[in-house]
Amino acid sequence: MLQAGNLVEVVDLKKWFRIRRGIGKSRVKYVRAVDGVTFNVRRGETLGLVGESGSGKTTVGRTVIRLYNPTEGRIFFEGRDISGLDEKELKPMRRKMQMIFQDPYASLNPRMTVSDIIAEPLEVHRLASPAERKDRIHELLKIVGLNPEHANRYPHEFSGGQRQRIGIARALAAEPSFIIADEPISALDVSIQAQVVNLLEELQEKLQLTYLFIAHDLAMVKHISNRVAVMYLGKIVEIAPSSELYQHPLHPYTLALLSAVPIADPEAEAARRRIILAGDIPSPIDPPAGCRFHTRCAKAMPQCRKHPPELKDAGSGHLVACHLYG
Ligand code: SF4
Repeated sequence: MLQAGNLVEVVDLKKWFRIRRGIGKSRVKYVRAVDGVTFNVRRGETLGLVGESGSGKTTVGRTVIRLYNPTEGRIFFEGRDISGLDEKELKPMRRKMQMIFQDPYASLNPRMTVSDIIAEPLEVHRLASPAERKDRIHELLKIVGLNPEHANRYPHEFSGGQRQRIGIARALAAEPSFIIADEPISALDVSIQAQVVNLLEELQEKLQLTYLFIAHDLAMVKHISNRVAVMYLGKIVEIAPSSELYQHPLHPYTLALLSAVPIADPEAEAARRRIILAGDIPSPIDPPAGCRFHTRCAKAMPQCRKHPPELKDAGSGHLVACHLYG
């Protein structure tokens, strides 16, 4: 199944959450957080996954790494179908697939020292003997740019950027090949964001890592991603190589997202016209029929209300799901 060069393949993945509203069976509804997404992540690349709040991007990340069980669809990692594996079978896979979370403070146990936090994956996966552990922890702290002498401090003694570095060191301790970074810089000051992105890029090269980098705006993934996938209401609407997506966006939703990104060139910035989308993202409990974006799309046609567009190749690996493109 696995195509050469792919580390991860996701095929028609769905993740629905059951909810109950009121009394009786008919009151059972489903939040269709992820509703049929197909994509791959090539070895050594960074795939950016972008969408506004409620698009399902975080649920994709958590389902791919099997923190959630998929409702339907298949997930291949290193050629193995991991969608139906139980906890025991997943354990060796979990070591290779790690997650970096958005809020570094909430994701670190405040009662554990940095040393204990990083030691946890070493112990769980038996990656260092008790004698080797201290050296390995110090080495990991150095790799992420932290002072090994601070290993016995607690998370609250560090800044937001330093705490994110601790989270990265904890992920690296498991010696993963694939990292899902779920909005890893959104909670950080703008001045610190570039430092964390640079660190992730350096680590990728040094340790041959593959990333799925989740973000809520296109500006955040621009520099780090080789390719970018755009999500809207549980579906991927466009995937393209990064430079192609930024220079020749096709989907009306991507155009709207890009219009919000400031441009460094003052003349181009003065000419930038922001596309303001009407209304909010609809509920994933009862998504619109046809193209899910039709309720907010200025270019919607009658067929858009009835027929869901498929993700199709518009040329050179640029995939788009929109009736404007055949
Ligand atoms: Fe707009 Fe129709 Fe394209 Fe959907 S399929 S993005 S509604 S033009």
